[in-house]
Amino acid sequence: MKTKTVELVASPRAPHFVGDGFRVHNFIPSGFRLDMQRMTPFILLDYNATYNFPPSSKPKGVGVHPHRGFETVTIAYKGKVAHHDSSGGGGVIGEGDIQWMTAASGVLHKEYHEEEWSKKGGDFQMVQLWVNLPKKDKMSTPKYQAIKNEDIKRFTLENNGGNIEVIAGAYKDVKGVASTFTPIHMLNAKLNKNGKAEFQFPANYNTALLVVEGNIVINTTEKVPTDHLALMANDGETFEIEALDDAIVLVLSGEPINEPIEAHGPFVMNTKEELKEAFNDYNNGKFGFLEA
Ligand code: MN
Repeated sequence: MKTKTVELVASPRAPHFVGDGFRVHNFIPSGFRLDMQRMTPFILLDYNATYNFPPSSKPKGVGVHPHRGFETVTIAYKGKVAHHDSSGGGGVIGEGDIQWMTAASGVLHKEYHEEEWSKKGGDFQMVQLWVNLPKKDKMSTPKYQAIKNEDIKRFTLENNGGNIEVIAGAYKDVKGVASTFTPIHMLNAKLNKNGKAEFQFPANYNTALLVVEGNIVINTTEKVPTDHLALMANDGETFEIEALDDAIVLVLSGEPINEPIEAHGPFVMNTKEELKEAFNDYNNGKFGFLEA
């Protein structure tokens, strides 16, 4: 088996606000080395690095908006988010929880800081991913998976190295709880200082690591600091990380969906015609209704 090497370590770009509740650094898609095709099936990664929101009586967030053709996955590290969608899905996610919304044929949703959390304010840290769907599933029925932290299975690393939370896919013999349309591994490696973990994914799987706490070294040589993303090359199967201090690393690896991508705003389809249809359907109220 060959070593999977580091292709690129990306520093966080200047943050921007999504609505008034998410202050994000966008990592994917960000130019030719990390465009939607390069990291397919992970076509967008917005990272709200730790940011202190002051108390607000009116919850901050993003108002009603549509999605079609993919899934949105929100991973909460700090803070609480409330979510509602037009298919009846919804709930609150807090520290360590995951919200996995399959927009597929189309939903309207809104994403806000949870009301009580908002009143107190505090540190907020989240990742939002867009996971693409293959053509055959883009128009399937929307669904929602609320994944509580206590339901996530863990692999305990040896030598007091920490543990690996398996959100989707598998780590060694531990399987993730989320159901996915294409093969995906989504893991939170929670490492103690000097903890080590090795990973093995097929060479063709697109793989990236986002360091959300601490600092790590990949394959004993490549240092990746907090809030940076390492894009792994498609040149091998195995790699190892070591934590230089207590660290949390989001590990993403997925089988590429080798289909054309046409994306505009909240819609990700295969052709321009399908994008046009998405806009028409949205304008004609076919995405349902959700109260503002
Ligand atoms: Mn959204």
